[in-house]
Amino acid sequence: MTPDSPVARRVLPSPNHGERRGGGPDGAAVPRPDMLILHYTGMESAQAAVARLRDPRAEVSAHYLVFEDGAVAQMVPEARRAWHAGAAAWKGERDVNSRSLGIEIVHPGHVGGLPPYPEAQVAAVTALARDLCARWAIPPERVLAHSDVAPERKEDPGEVFPWARLAAEGVGHFVPPVPIRDGRFFARGDAGQPIEALQAMLGLYGYDQPVTGVFDARTQAVVAAFQRHFRPARVDGVADASTITTLRDLIAALPGQGDRI
Ligand SMILES: [Zn+2]
Repeated sequence: MTPDSPVARRVLPSPNHGERRGGGPDGAAVPRPDMLILHYTGMESAQAAVARLRDPRAEVSAHYLVFEDGAVAQMVPEARRAWHAGAAAWKGERDVNSRSLGIEIVHPGHVGGLPPYPEAQVAAVTALARDLCARWAIPPERVLAHSDVAPERKEDPGEVFPWARLAAEGVGHFVPPVPIRDGRFFARGDAGQPIEALQAMLGLYGYDQPVTGVFDARTQAVVAAFQRHFRPARVDGVADASTITTLRDLIAALPGQGDRI
């Protein structure tokens, strides 16, 4: 195996992969990846993460692993279906692994105190993501956090991941978050038309959020996932004015979507 990306200088092959399933939207037999999912490893060391990602009993993997010093290793060929997303959904697609590429970033995660990502590592993730999006024509709004596609199960890569900086360098979809101010907000237990509108906007952007009109546990988890990625100054699952306005701005900034709200 030789690296598919020029950004990867070495390979650490994992046995944990399979064939992409389900066919592409263009009728192709094997779907091409059109999403990029970012993760943190959430383990105490890079060595432990490498061992787990190569252990056939663990049944997890990713296409690439980015070390804290910026070194990049490929673990699964891009053409293959790596096992990184698990039970997940985005824009109605439930087999996220078949439609995506996955990058694991060596980082201790929330359990390790959520330290900032090192500069060299962010630069490497940016370069790798830029290469993958260019070669596979992945749209910016489909570069996502694991927490975006699995909001009730996952928190990675976490609210310290510098999405704004990646966007400034041409990776991902982002608008400046609206400042937090006092005012009306919606939270767990609320119900009614404003909750329906909020849920519809979250679903329109891509989150797996049914429109029920009730601000339930699912809605709270999806709002928190949205905040982690797009309004990281406060991640509390409460839909305050800053959260809702940032979501509206983000939807308005989607290609071809601005006329729908
Ligand atoms: Zn993950």
